[in-house]
Amino acid sequence: MQRLKQFIEKEGSVINDQVLKVDSFLNHAIHPQLMKQIGEEFSHRFQHDGITKIVTLESSGIAPALMASLALNCELVFARKRKSMTMTDHLYTSSVHSFTKNQVNDISVSKNLLEKGERILIIDDFLANGQAALGLIDLVNQAQANVIGLGIVIEKSFQPGREILEKKGYRVESLARIAHLSEGKATFLESITSAN
Ligand code: 5GP
Repeated sequence: MQRLKQFIEKEGSVINDQVLKVDSFLNHAIHPQLMKQIGEEFSHRFQHDGITKIVTLESSGIAPALMASLALNCELVFARKRKSMTMTDHLYTSSVHSFTKNQVNDISVSKNLLEKGERILIIDDFLANGQAALGLIDLVNQAQANVIGLGIVIEKSFQPGREILEKKGYRVESLARIAHLSEGKATFLESITSAN
């Protein structure tokens, strides 16, 4: 997605060779027009898949997921991150190791918000090691709903997330795929493959 790549090139800052900061349009401030286009692109890729609900993770997954749910005309639920939970009876819960915070969070969704047999699209802002995605998949599986695919805004393709998910049979659609982060710059996978 060309416009997203332009935003990453112009406004992203490479913190180190593992982490990209995109606070000006995705993770802190949100660029509404870009987010609308992101939603439309996810919708375009999943429009024939009978998606009934999008599941994402608070907080940075919510904006792209909301735009995609509008475009796909489907429901939206976001999983919550909680440190301690006293009442787990009515929740599906999974443990996720956070890449950016280097800590384990429980994520949860109320049982009444996911139904057996639903066709779920999982959306998240970044894909790194795939832990957030696996946690969300776990919640959907607990509800006996079906994960139809995963929509990722920015995939860091040098990390194993995509491979882990694909090996488990999941379809991954990423709008920008980063081959590497080095010398303060993000290099996109396409620019490497098309140069060959
Ligand atoms: P994973 O669970 O795939 O290892 O990491 C994905 C999660 O970690 C995303 O939900 C995102 O919040 C965060 N994350 C991973 N890598 C980055 C990054 O380079 N930049 C930012 N801003 N967040 C990231």
